[in-house]
Amino acid sequence: MIAQIKIDYALCTDPLNCRQCLSVCPSVVFVCGPTKVWKGRESDPGEYKIIGRYYDKCSGCGDCVKVCPTKAIELTFIPQEQLAQMFRAERAAQLKERQS
Ligand code: SF4
Ligand code: SF4
Repeated sequence: MIAQIKIDYALCTDPLNCRQCLSVCPSVVFVCGPTKVWKGRESDPGEYKIIGRYYDKCSGCGDCVKVCPTKAIELTFIPQEQLAQMFRAERAAQLKERQS
């Protein structure tokens, strides 16, 4: 089984100042970074997002869900092959969009 970490960005609106999930996670799963890269100017604080980038390192402790003050994190576990299938479908859709 592998973790699937969904973050509701309507609830997680100020990740740069909050970062509680990032601080508490013993497996250092989360990263907080800008969603756009601008040449010649700093990213606006509102353009930062938390993502569970290293979800494959998640031990399932649930600490991030407990500590999140806005209940923005949803943690589920699915079989690895099912996740791989989802990623394949996402990638195929991205490639199709680029070709059109
Ligand atoms: S469940 Fe635990 S290991 Fe997994 S992302 Fe949350 S805090 Fe990190
Ligand atoms: S703890 Fe919750 S609100 Fe805070 S940065 Fe993480 S996901 Fe966003």
